[in-house]
Amino acid sequence: MSAKIIDGKEFAANVRAQVAKHVTRLKNDHDITPGLAVVLVGEDPASQVYVRNKHKSTIEVGMNSFEHRLDADTSEVDLLALIDQLNNDPSVHGILCQLPLPEHLNEELVINSIIPEKDVDGFHISNVGLLGTGQRSMVPCTPLGCLMMLRDHHGSLSGLNAVVVGRSNIVGKPMANLLLKDSCTVTIAHSRTKDIESICRAADIVVAAVGRPEMITGDWIGEGATVIDVGINRIPHPEKEGKSKLVGDVHFESAAAKAGAITPVPGGVGPMTIACLLANTLTACSRANGLDEPEGLTA
Ligand code: NDP
Repeated sequence: MSAKIIDGKEFAANVRAQVAKHVTRLKNDHDITPGLAVVLVGEDPASQVYVRNKHKSTIEVGMNSFEHRLDADTSEVDLLALIDQLNNDPSVHGILCQLPLPEHLNEELVINSIIPEKDVDGFHISNVGLLGTGQRSMVPCTPLGCLMMLRDHHGSLSGLNAVVVGRSNIVGKPMANLLLKDSCTVTIAHSRTKDIESICRAADIVVAAVGRPEMITGDWIGEGATVIDVGINRIPHPEKEGKSKLVGDVHFESAAAKAGAITPVPGGVGPMTIACLLANTLTACSRANGLDEPEGLTA
């Protein structure tokens, strides 16, 4: 079987275009401009790239982008004071604190100091609880992007067997909760799971969020299954000495030979994360103003 390649770049461009259309409508009809505040503490090079990309994408869809770059030695008190100010700023609808934070800062405390309504990363403990109990919440961006692609491919997910490999708080667990909310039968596999290959092989949907390059090979995948590869791993390039390349947690070629549909790495789940951050900011803005949520852009 030759799998359909789910093009995350194209999908994300479409999500961003939908967001931009809603933003224009909010501006024209309600004189409201959604605003996203991103807080970066320190100079981690990868975080700087992420924050730059988020800023650019936010501006491109017509939202306001508020960037706050703080020194690496910023105290917890000062950081919490900034978050308090953003919590109370009506022009800010979404707040994101770029992780990881420097070691002297308590990540959990900082995340939970963002009011849940503005927690566009969906990491606040209230949002985790709301999602876990199937209620309306802010949903973590990467799993939301996976859900959108799965819904688009399958239509209804009801009754499908889904396996999520990985149980992290930012990907695996929220992904499993979202699939459960859409009435999948969900198994969460992790490093202690026995006979993980046959569990995956029996699934209609496999979501890989492990952080191990190409761990999931074609013989783990059932004929015609949908494979969503969240993994982003940089490995030495097999042919070009001194160069590296990005691979997922799935061995693409062998899995694509069995799957019905599969996301590539790069160009699969990755581009969806920022698109969903923008979608979440739009959702937060709509909710804050008592307006309808944007259809198709929420969980
Ligand atoms: P974590 O390291 O937090 O979690 C990895 C999970 O994989 C753990 O639950 C772990 O199990 C499980 N695991 C590890 N080894 C095995 C194994 N041999 N068999 C089965 N399960 C295993 O990673 P994240 O969830 O944060 O990220 C996962 C991947 O997704 C990474 O490659 C990351 O870079 C990528 N990512 C991509 C994003 C995107 O935008 N596309 C966003 C976020 C992450 P246990 O709990 O038992 O240790």
